[in-house]
Amino acid sequence: MKQATHYTDHDAFLQDAVPGSFWVSDGPEHVNFWFFCPCGCGEKRVIRVGRGYKPEAGPSWHWNGATEKPTLKPSVDLGHWHGWLTGGVWQK
Ligand SMILES: [Zn+2]
Repeated sequence: MKQATHYTDHDAFLQDAVPGSFWVSDGPEHVNFWFFCPCGCGEKRVIRVGRGYKPEAGPSWHWNGATEKPTLKPSVDLGHWHGWLTGGVWQK
């Protein structure tokens, strides 16, 4: 289990590189949800999410819009790590 810590400061997000932490940036039609792999490998990923909905196009996730206790649906598959972000916790 890893806590998903939200960063508002992009530089601090990149510098700290805390496993499971995330930073979001609003795109024109969706939200980019950036996060460091919860496993601790240091890999940074981005997925397309909707604030309270799942974007129709492409691989995408439903985000509950919360930064305190974020939940993504469906599960997140990073290849070497596959699990869920639920209530602010990454779990395999
Ligand atoms: Zn990893």
